[in-house]
Amino acid sequence: MRRTEGTAPVGRAYDPGKVILPGSTIGVLGGGQLGRMLALAGSHMGYRFATLDPTPDCPLGQVASYQITAGYGDAEAARALAKQSDVITYEFENVDAAVADMLERESYVPQGSRLLYTTQHRLREKRAVEAAGAPVAPYAEIGSLAELEAAVARFGTPCVLKTATGGYDGKGQWVIRSADVCAEAYAALSRAGTELVLEQFIRFEREISAIAARSPRGEVKVFPIAENIHVDNILHLSIVPARTTDAVRKRAEELAVKIAETLDVVGLIAVEMFLTPDGELYVNELAPRPHNSGHYTMEACMTSQFEQHVRAVCNLPLGSTELLTPVVMVNVLGEHVEPLLQWLGSQKAEEPGVSVKVHLYGKAEAKHKRKMGHVNLLARDTETALAWVERTGIWNREQEG
Ligand code: AMP
Repeated sequence: MRRTEGTAPVGRAYDPGKVILPGSTIGVLGGGQLGRMLALAGSHMGYRFATLDPTPDCPLGQVASYQITAGYGDAEAARALAKQSDVITYEFENVDAAVADMLERESYVPQGSRLLYTTQHRLREKRAVEAAGAPVAPYAEIGSLAELEAAVARFGTPCVLKTATGGYDGKGQWVIRSADVCAEAYAALSRAGTELVLEQFIRFEREISAIAARSPRGEVKVFPIAENIHVDNILHLSIVPARTTDAVRKRAEELAVKIAETLDVVGLIAVEMFLTPDGELYVNELAPRPHNSGHYTMEACMTSQFEQHVRAVCNLPLGSTELLTPVVMVNVLGEHVEPLLQWLGSQKAEEPGVSVKVHLYGKAEAKHKRKMGHVNLLARDTETALAWVERTGIWNREQEG
């Protein structure tokens, strides 16, 4: 599932004149919740969906016309998906390199494999972000314990050691709080067999994200900036509008647009950033797909991120990203499902000025910390929505342990 440093894929298959019209089939590599919400949005427009995923009856399989049940690295299965599809997209970035290359040769993948190649590897991603003129936290490539010790001495503590590939939701990283844990951190993370990168610790005031869409004809639109609050490295809340200045929001939007253009993106690109108390922005991570921090768009924007992704890969005109209402998105993890269902069944009338939009992904097992759904709270202001989250008690149990 990993690409290491090597030759970049040359392939680039998008055609600025090619339009995929409703009635066509969109093949999605991966059948999780992102693919499911993509299919729900695209089905309204008249597209059909096919997916390849190892889990029978996966979230997207439940709503698609067609599921191939096989591993993501199974080239024959991917070929069968391509045969069913007029266009191929993906819902995660760790697409197997050989499968991505094969699909690009044998079918239409307007997003191309080059963007995957860049975003699958933190060092390549950082270089690409820098090339787009966007700031990243100072970083160093780490190939040995000696290099790590030297870089920690240079950056000071705390600093963050990360694997270059394969990490998500805070996995594959170690916050180095004192120089004497270098050997332990190095041993633990280098076991993954991938390159490592050390980052200076950014004392951010907030984490924010921007999601931009770009179509093959070069049209670009960006969604309103979300403010993101993580608990145990998993996204807990997105608050929109983000609680910062217009100038910061504008700059974050501009950075996302610049990155989308420089990286020749087709489809969505999510840009996660740190905002420091003095208003500086640092890009932390990119994701070339719909993003958890964009789920709020489903009811709160004129066009959702999922519809926008369909429009972009199909080369339709992009939709307006205008915000219709303040919103808070709360993730529903395994441990929140029971209390949420109890609350839903309790027949409590919704409060005036708040509309509670429940999205559950159809996953069979509500495992602890597993993303099972989310709730979009539309309200007259974000304080009202945040107060609702507190009052229901659905999410407080997590903090209690
Ligand atoms: P990541 O896997 O890179 O998205 O990191 C997960 C979380 O760790 C981020 O959302 C931040 O809260 C925190 N984090 C990662 N890198 C840094 C950094 N360089 N400085 C401060 N916090 C960080």
